[in-house]
Amino acid sequence: MTGAPTGATHLAGVIGWPVRHSRSPDIHNAAYRALGLDWIYVALPVPPGHVPDALAGMRALGIEGLSVTMPHKAAVAAAVDALTADAAALGAVNSVRRDGERLVGDNTDGGGFVDSLRDAGVDASGRRCVVLGAGGAARAVIRALATAGASQVVVVNRDASRAETAAALAGACGTTGTHDDLRTAELLVQATPVGMGDDQTLAADPGLLPDGAVVADLVYHPLVTPLLAAASERGLTTVDGLGMLVHQAARQLHAWTGAEPPIGVMRDAAGA
Ligand code: NAP
Repeated sequence: MTGAPTGATHLAGVIGWPVRHSRSPDIHNAAYRALGLDWIYVALPVPPGHVPDALAGMRALGIEGLSVTMPHKAAVAAAVDALTADAAALGAVNSVRRDGERLVGDNTDGGGFVDSLRDAGVDASGRRCVVLGAGGAARAVIRALATAGASQVVVVNRDASRAETAAALAGACGTTGTHDDLRTAELLVQATPVGMGDDQTLAADPGLLPDGAVVADLVYHPLVTPLLAAASERGLTTVDGLGMLVHQAARQLHAWTGAEPPIGVMRDAAGA
């Protein structure tokens, strides 16, 4: 929005616990300002167990869109009126939009990741991919890579049974593996918290990858993780985690407002 809220201002927000440090208000509000939209986006702390109340509030208060962050993604998936195919497959919702009286849950994480690859000039189609991790973010990426036409999605995770479940999200091209699979990977996606903050641990050895491979890290704090630094040194193309953060928000903004998201503005706001 461009000025102070009025009686006509549209309201959107993010629910989570905790949610105070979310970057989403900066990202969405910067986009609203750039687009001249009379919308405002706020952080709404919702304690565990209160998701049904929060969604009732969304209906009653006329909130147009809600982002959903930890720990509520599964609870929201169970409480909305309908789910997109992505949200249903993942059992997790990161975005709720109003469709008349109905609340529809979507998951824009995986699509946002593929969009961030595209921004970097990388097409996942036909690529042999290795994904490190099998948590919520990895699962969204695994499904999205398969949807985008990856030829193989190999899931490498500490917990073997979680790896199996996650690999199944890629259908016939999904399988589990080990770090040895990096030797033939054309795209490596790091989807664990390794390398976050002050953690200097190298999540994998980029030296194992063939020439021409692409390395993406979902961690965005720091922007250049130890893995991305090592991959750059090895001469490989790298994709940082900020792009996924921005593009999952961009997909939400488009679904709620119908406007074309100003990606550059949103990325500047996310990185601020
Ligand atoms: P999650 O659901 O808690 O899953 C964490 C995954 O990482 C699990 O598979 C876990 O393995 C694995 N893991 C944790 N610590 C590990 C370690 N020390 N060594 C090896 N594997 C380890 O978390 P999430 O929501 O998927 O998020 C994962 C990371 O992605 C976050 O730290 C965040 O930085 C990033 N992320 C980025 C975006 C974005 O927009 N860029 C969005 C979401 C998340 P086990 O199953 O064996 O326990």
